[in-house]
Amino acid sequence: MALKALDIYKLLPKKNCKECGDPTCLTFAMKLAGGKADVDLCPYLAEEAKSVLGATTRPPIRLIKLGVGERSFAVGEEFVLYRHDKTFYHPPGILFRVSDSQTPDEITAATLRVRDETFTRIGSDLRFNGIAIENTSGSPEVFARAVATVEENADLPLVLMAESPEAHKAALVQVGSYQPLIHAATAQNFREMCAVAKKHSCPMVIKAHGTDNLAALAKACQEEGVKKLVMDICPQSLGDYIGTATAIRQLAITRAVPDLGFPVFLDATHSCLQDAVIALGIVKYASVIVTPPLSHESSKAALTLRQNIYTDPQKPIQMSPGLYRVGTPGKDAPVLVTVNFSLTFFTLQGYLESSRVPCFMLIVDTEGLSVLTAVAAGKFNETLVHDSLKKFNAEGEVSHKTLIIPGYAAPLSGRIEEATGWNVMVGPRDAAEIGEYLHEVWQKRG
Ligand code: SF4
Repeated sequence: MALKALDIYKLLPKKNCKECGDPTCLTFAMKLAGGKADVDLCPYLAEEAKSVLGATTRPPIRLIKLGVGERSFAVGEEFVLYRHDKTFYHPPGILFRVSDSQTPDEITAATLRVRDETFTRIGSDLRFNGIAIENTSGSPEVFARAVATVEENADLPLVLMAESPEAHKAALVQVGSYQPLIHAATAQNFREMCAVAKKHSCPMVIKAHGTDNLAALAKACQEEGVKKLVMDICPQSLGDYIGTATAIRQLAITRAVPDLGFPVFLDATHSCLQDAVIALGIVKYASVIVTPPLSHESSKAALTLRQNIYTDPQKPIQMSPGLYRVGTPGKDAPVLVTVNFSLTFFTLQGYLESSRVPCFMLIVDTEGLSVLTAVAAGKFNETLVHDSLKKFNAEGEVSHKTLIIPGYAAPLSGRIEEATGWNVMVGPRDAAEIGEYLHEVWQKRG
């Protein structure tokens, strides 16, 4: 049962020393009560109080940070099984996998792609997150050299994948201070791997098949003093992955098996359905996904899907209403009105840019709804268009009074003309046709 802030406060040392990052013990207690802090942040808490508080106040899935610096990222700290219940908070890191048997040039090429490649979509820069280096050579020295090659080219979060603790030790001499994720401790080698992880304060992947085995291994590693864990569930098929990952999420968020409360690792490397594995991982609870470097098409698909799944479904992504310029529009440039749903804005803006017809986009506040929904809900209406034209001084920017409205708003054309005094032209329903419309209809109008 969840504890209230005051009950938690009674168990705290009350030094108000701020070492937990909070100004007082009371504010820390309030954060704990909301599941927004980890009890381990207070160094003065007695072990007994820590175990009582930890069981009820810790986020059900631990937050694990990979790497240091600007490109570091955190995964875990999720609370729900379905994103429509609340939202998913921490998008999975997707890392390109290289092998230490590859040439330095090949390793460098993959590293530079992750370092430099950016897709911009709906106003956000989408990137891959890091590099996973696998010790396929079996040699600790070769592994260490491959890791050094990656490190020389970019400050990226790393996953070190080696069966032998000796190989990890050799590689960590190069990058230990960057806190890479080390993969993986098994039932056979976990004591040695825990010693390596503790020495460098690295997060560590544990690897086992089945929830019982994973929970037992997680418990054993925590008893060895390693608490930053990620779980490789070694799926034998896509169906096996869905079943196990779903069971882990359910048992973790209900706190039925606290030892399963860690982010999940998924390796898409050896599947012939790589795109499907990545998509499945993004949708179903993977937090660290490793894949060979992807084609341009697969990269875009993966990053787009991740962006879509990890936006809050209860908050449409919105643009600020206003009058936006595309190119350098003059006084005779067309004015196109549309909604402030970000996807609509950026899609239309892209097609307008390709049309090479400089214009104004009048973005009206439909609370982030798309055109079709906003028209149906009455949010896109003549009053809104009238008020927006005035508010953003469209009349002062152009020498005409002609407004292009979206095709789906055609039934409102008469009412908009009446309310605004502007001549209304009905644009296409599909943004992809706007270039042709501007060239064929707007520029050839009488
Ligand atoms: Fe209180 Fe512990 Fe935070 Fe210090 S570190 S303010 S004692 S909760």
